[in-house]
Amino acid sequence: MRPIQMVDLKEQYLHIKDEVDAAIHQVLDTTAFIGGKAVQDFTSNLAAFTGARHVIPCANGTDALQIAMMALGLQPGDEVITPSFTYIATTEVVALLKLKPVFVEVDPQTFCIDPVAIEQAITPRTKAIVPVHLYGQSAPMEAILDIARRHDLYVIEDNAQAIGATYTFSDGTVKQTGTMGTIGTTSFFPSKNLGCYGDGGAIFTDDDALADKLRMIANHGQKVRYYHEVVGCNSRLDTIQAAILDVKLKRLNDYIAARQQVAAAYNQAFAGHPAITTPKVTEGNAHVYHQYTLQLEGVDRDGLQQYLAARSIPSMIYYPVPAHRQRMFTDLGAGGEDLPVTDWLTQRVISLPIHTEMLPEHIELITSGVLSYIEHTKPQS
Ligand SMILES: *Cc1c(COP(=O)(O)O)cnc(C)c1O
Repeated sequence: MRPIQMVDLKEQYLHIKDEVDAAIHQVLDTTAFIGGKAVQDFTSNLAAFTGARHVIPCANGTDALQIAMMALGLQPGDEVITPSFTYIATTEVVALLKLKPVFVEVDPQTFCIDPVAIEQAITPRTKAIVPVHLYGQSAPMEAILDIARRHDLYVIEDNAQAIGATYTFSDGTVKQTGTMGTIGTTSFFPSKNLGCYGDGGAIFTDDDALADKLRMIANHGQKVRYYHEVVGCNSRLDTIQAAILDVKLKRLNDYIAARQQVAAAYNQAFAGHPAITTPKVTEGNAHVYHQYTLQLEGVDRDGLQQYLAARSIPSMIYYPVPAHRQRMFTDLGAGGEDLPVTDWLTQRVISLPIHTEMLPEHIELITSGVLSYIEHTKPQS
């Protein structure tokens, strides 16, 4: 049996090798390494897939967030509300642009930003909300968009973990994550649900003027070559990555289904266990399970990780230190909020392997490993 990995990129590649290799060779033949045809093909296919009017490719998911905030004209000191329970990139760019991150709580069951906490954190300086569709499930966008409308705020969806996930509004409208806010951003880091073989990212918007601006900022602030209208940056998705992504985009729905099957098997194995809380999916959401994350009650998490590791079963803690406790912020005088739910989750969560090439034997080994450790150790007081 293949070893268990958090993500098995090699096995996935072997299944699509002929097509990927041909796509790469086609780029090599044209030598159009930057701005080649595959970039245009992939971005228009991604627009069709997501339903976004504009897809602007860029170099990675962190740049996507930064370019989004630059395009919205946010000024130093403007406040941006984000969850603390997220990958650092979401909040790092806020500080990089000298904006003020305001960290708020997440829902303890879905791990996504809590709309009540957003509303409480709004001040006259608040300019934007950055919901994160954490682990592959949409944040509660209807409530977030309603708050944004009432307070005239921008919404930047950090969709790095949830491409292909959907959200259902109360009127029945179904939308993909990343296409509901003012701007959506995503990452094509290799281990993401739609990953390339290097770095990549994209920005989504339905606003024509904003799309122009995003494109211009990602390209040294120019629309016409050598005429620079605004301060921008250099952030490109290269042609080889776009060609690979186009091959994988055709399979994204299958990849999502494969992840959902793994999650369903895990849910079944852990159902009703008093020490384990399985991920909650909000009604109307299609979760794409970038991560499958359990919460443990009264279990020695380090001990469990060591026990699993001794059986060649990897596991991860996403994330061991929440943003509001990171020195990069506290040294700036930011962070330090009182976020008991976030701190509590940080102590409880554990993510199990989940990817598109998992075998039933893998799932069996992982679930029996987790359950036997919990049943054979005494609960911690
Ligand atoms: C991966 C990730 C990013 C950053 O993407 P990169 O391509 O690595 O820059 C941003 N936000 C979240 C939530 C992520 O998981």
